[in-house]
Amino acid sequence: MSITLLPLVQRALVIGAHPDDSEFFCAGTVAQWVAQGVTVGYIVVTSGDKGQPDDWHDPRPFPRVREDEQRAAAAILGVQDVTFLRWPDGEVFDTLELRERLTAEIRRFRPDVVLTHDPFTRLYRQHPDHRATGAAALAAAFPASRLGTFFPNHLAAGLQPHIVRWAMLFGSDQPNTFVDIHEVFPKKLEALRCHVSQLGAFPGGLEQRIRLRAQEAGRTAGLDLAEAFVLVELE
Ligand SMILES: [Zn+2]
Repeated sequence: MSITLLPLVQRALVIGAHPDDSEFFCAGTVAQWVAQGVTVGYIVVTSGDKGQPDDWHDPRPFPRVREDEQRAAAAILGVQDVTFLRWPDGEVFDTLELRERLTAEIRRFRPDVVLTHDPFTRLYRQHPDHRATGAAALAAAFPASRLGTFFPNHLAAGLQPHIVRWAMLFGSDQPNTFVDIHEVFPKKLEALRCHVSQLGAFPGGLEQRIRLRAQEAGRTAGLDLAEAFVLVELE
C-alpha cells in the first residue's frame, strides 16, 4: 500500500505524543521515505518529562535531555524539522487548544500525509496521551486544516488552509496497511538507541522487543519485519 501511496507523497508530518513514539511506531517508514526524497517533519506534543528514571542524576533539565535525544534520533532518519509543543507529559487531552496548535502546524508544514496515533484502538494498554494526541491530530488534519472557517486568526499569521490527503494511524488493533521495513530495520534501531534515558525500560533488550513487534506487525501481510497502520483517505 505504501508503494502506491509514495509517488504522491512529497511531505509527511509525524505527530507523536512523546519523544521516541515516532521512532517506535514509524521510524522504518520514515527512513525509507526520506531516502526516496520525501520531506518528513516531526511534531512532538510533550517532552516526555514523566519518563525520568528513578536513578537519574544528569544535572540538565530532563525534558531538554529528551528533546536532544529526539533531535538526534530524527537526524539519523533524515528528519530536520522537529517541533516540540511542550505540553505537560501525561496531561494531554483532545482540547480545542491542542487542535488549534496542531492545525497551525499542519498549515505551516503542509503535509500530504499525517502520521499519528490511532485514537480509537482497542488496545487497552495504551498511554492516554497517545489517544488524546491522535484524536486532536486527526481533528486538525480533517476537517480543521482545510477550512478557513476553523481558526481564521491563522490567516493573519500567514497560514493558509491546507488539504491533508491521508492519515496513517499507528498503534492500531485494526491495521490495513503494512510497510516492509526489513532493509531499514538497523536504522530504526539506531534511531531508537538515541533515546538513551529510556533504554532502561527494556530489560530484555531493545532489539529483541522491537524485532518482535515488527514481526508481529508483518505477520498478517506475509512480511518479515513491518510497521502497521490504518490508512485513511481524507479527500
Ligand atoms: Zn508515548
